Amino acid sequence: MFFDRDNTLIIDKNYMFETKDLEFYEDSFSALKLIQSKGFELFIVTNQSGIGRGYFSIDQMHLFHKAMLDRFTQDDIEFRALKFCPHAPDDGCDCRKPNPTLILECIKEYDIDTKNSFMIGDKVIDAQCGENAGMTGVTLNSKKESKFKDFKSLTEFANYL
Ligand SMILES: [Zn+2]
Repeated sequence: MFFDRDNTLIIDKNYMFETKDLEFYEDSFSALKLIQSKGFELFIVTNQSGIGRGYFSIDQMHLFHKAMLDRFTQDDIEFRALKFCPHAPDDGCDCRKPNPTLILECIKEYDIDTKNSFMIGDKVIDAQCGENAGMTGVTLNSKKESKFKDFKSLTEFANYL
């Protein structure tokens, strides 16, 4: 199971990197536990253009991620990997979603059943990224109409699986 980070697992505060801004959704923990209990391993794929834009450093991002992952671990929720694109949109990199590079890296590094995997995020590019990697892409509370199935909450998605 591949997750976007902001507005999917945690509440987006615009280029956040300070742990004081770390805020989870009420159902983040129960939904992730349910997804885990259904046999999925968890991954995060996130665009962090705040680095490329000079808003925060990679080290600051790592500290933020450590706080987030530590909090999940407290509830026995374990992510196998977190991959990020540090580039700005106009850097022309090949790892920014919807490019599937980061997911493809996970597929190469871990034993992943791609066809039975999902990528979920609040943006259509997240679902598209999953589809580009050969898995099912879905959206979470997407503001835009698209061909992808949309869920109102992570809990609704977890129950659907
Ligand atoms: Zn990139």
